[in-house]
Amino acid sequence: MLARAGFAIPHPHLRTGFRAPPTPFVTHPAQSSQAFLRDSGLPERWQHRDRFAILQTGFRGGLDFLVTWAAWQNDPLRCERLHFVVLEASPPDPAALEQTRAAVAFDPLLRELARHLCAQWPTLFLGAQPGTQRLEFAAGRVVLTLVFGELLSTLPTLAMRADAFYLDARADSNSYSLVDPLVSNSLADAYTVPGPFLLRGFTRLAAQHATLVATSMHAGLRKRLREFGFEITSVRDNSDSDSDGSRIVASFAPRFRVRRHEPPAPFSEICSHAARDAIVIGAGLAGCALVERLAARGWQVTLIERQASAAQEASGNPAGVFHPIVTSDDSFAARLSRAGFLYALRRWSDLRDGGASFSPHAEGLFVAAQNEDEFAAMRATLERLALPDSYVKLLSREQAALQIGVTPAFGGWLFARGGWLDPAALCKAQLDAAGARLKRLFGQVAQRLEQRGDRWHVIDAHGASIADASVVIVANAVDAQRLLHSRHLPLNAIRGQVTVLPLLSDAAHLAPEIPLIGDGYLVRLNSKSLMTGASYDLDDTDPELRWNSQRENLDRLAQLVPSSRGHFDSATLAGRVGLRCVTSDRMPVIGPVADEAAALALSGTLNGAHLADIPRIRGLYAATAYGSRGLTWAALGAELIASQLDGEPWPVDRKLADGVDPARFLLRVLRQTL
Ligand SMILES: Cc1cc2nc3c(=O)[nH]c(=O)nc-3n(C[C@H](O)[C@H](O)[C@H](O)COP(=O)(O)OP(=O)(O)OC[C@H]3O[C@@H](n4cnc5c(N)ncnc54)[C@H](O)[C@@H]3O)c2cc1C
Repeated sequence: MLARAGFAIPHPHLRTGFRAPPTPFVTHPAQSSQAFLRDSGLPERWQHRDRFAILQTGFRGGLDFLVTWAAWQNDPLRCERLHFVVLEASPPDPAALEQTRAAVAFDPLLRELARHLCAQWPTLFLGAQPGTQRLEFAAGRVVLTLVFGELLSTLPTLAMRADAFYLDARADSNSYSLVDPLVSNSLADAYTVPGPFLLRGFTRLAAQHATLVATSMHAGLRKRLREFGFEITSVRDNSDSDSDGSRIVASFAPRFRVRRHEPPAPFSEICSHAARDAIVIGAGLAGCALVERLAARGWQVTLIERQASAAQEASGNPAGVFHPIVTSDDSFAARLSRAGFLYALRRWSDLRDGGASFSPHAEGLFVAAQNEDEFAAMRATLERLALPDSYVKLLSREQAALQIGVTPAFGGWLFARGGWLDPAALCKAQLDAAGARLKRLFGQVAQRLEQRGDRWHVIDAHGASIADASVVIVANAVDAQRLLHSRHLPLNAIRGQVTVLPLLSDAAHLAPEIPLIGDGYLVRLNSKSLMTGASYDLDDTDPELRWNSQRENLDRLAQLVPSSRGHFDSATLAGRVGLRCVTSDRMPVIGPVADEAAALALSGTLNGAHLADIPRIRGLYAATAYGSRGLTWAALGAELIASQLDGEPWPVDRKLADGVDPARFLLRVLRQTL
């Protein structure tokens, strides 16, 4: 049936410097999608399993993904979660997706799935910017992770355990070359034999007996596969027939140790009798996002919170703004915040589609320069990065005034999908989404943690166990340091005060349509009030509202919107105080907690250690230090920890995960002492 579809192969784009390859025998792409499935032993291999992960090089217009998803959908014995990870140089032209959609239109199921794919297709693909984007389908049971960037940087930093590899080795099927750019390729056909770099990458990620299906017959590839621990299970030479092309089918079965670290494994494998239950401590943005992500994967979660309800501390402001960081060198913070921002937008939209009444105001946010020099630098940065306008766009002061309805002191950047939301409403929606999988223990203080066998117990001030579970995640801001007894997790509190301004008729010219940010910020909360802030008071944990902080906030506002000067009387204004939790490097802390004692005892052997070498405390995780950007980090942080716990592909690459790893501070100490 699929063979009848007149599917056109997207135009090849070969890396400059490579000679065009000899024209290969071209099979029908839809046929080869089914061949990928069949030769990977699917659907049988995924049946009765919790999860199954496929890695593909080259998206091919999404056809292989759709055919695989359709087979999963049709299989009553399908795995609980199907992960499909794709490595691509850059986002495919949406036209390629439309071609796929047209090609499968005759098949009702594929047509329907293609419609979902097109509907979810990100509008915020970022031109040349690398990064990972995750799309969820079938109520989160089918997860498509798109990893954009050059293979040289994306493959070594990919974190997943692959059960099957789809390798379309035909040179014209990939937006990048699969041959090794670093090693001179002595094989006869240097253009169609994937190089050691690619196969070494696969070896690092392969689950035991992972299958590899390659659209190639090349003897050189067979030799290479064996070198990298794959056994050839069949070779199909269909080059003369009008069928689904020639293929090598292999299975990962190394006879010797081929890698330093095993790929991510589910907690249930590391701790074989462990129940799928977890305790989350802290019901702020960090904890509530975790509850939602874990419950969505079927975990039973107990949420312990010292306040009577969620979002009462840092996460209790009437509004929080969100937008990504942009820097001229696309720094670590810029890449992480891009991942966090895009993931959060998608998660919030899925939450709303799932029936939550919560809705972010993501109609735009304006970041104003603080002087002309900064405005010029902002212009230069955008020229350099060539980001799409749908992500960030430069506006002059006059253009901004037209767009926002308030005149800022200087021009700046408009983030079309940035905005603001009510953090408490988001927390509520996330807890509601967890349904019966969530047990709330509010008004209870976690005094200490105790590990008894395979179970973690949370102990209260009277020495009683409040709850126990296989896993504990501390999401209780700065108090996490005390609970973890950590000497190498430098958490600090920074006081912040916001000011609420009455929106009287004479202040209409100060009511922005979208949030306006500079050193401070201004948000219209509703028809009666605005919010501005926030103070940033180091070494200060005073919980009381202070008059001088209100005045500072008004001064900041006057810098941002000069016409606000003198408009409000700081003595009469309402406000709210909260404590931000930060680390010394101002990045969040997300992931498994280090076993500091074990690591320090081994310090002599941890010569040249990587984070993957640092011993961890089994079942203990942290999600904290979200600083001034809880809305940007919380959803991504929760998805990362949930993926780590379930041994699923991570939503970010290892470099980004390393930069937020709780063990990074310890690693620095270990490196200094060696
Ligand atoms: C003034 C101000 C303005 C801000 N503006 C923004 C903004 O515009 N945009 C943005 O993205 N971010 C903003 N932030 C940052 C954002 O609020 C935080 O990053 C975020 O709220 C942190 O969430 P959290 O869950 O880590 O911490 P919290 O919200 O503080 O949650 C931690 C929870 O743990 C509980 N807890 C602590 N210890 C224990 C214990 N031992 N037992 C039981 N429970 C415990 C606490 O009661 C609390 O509910 C702002 C912060 C402040 C202070």
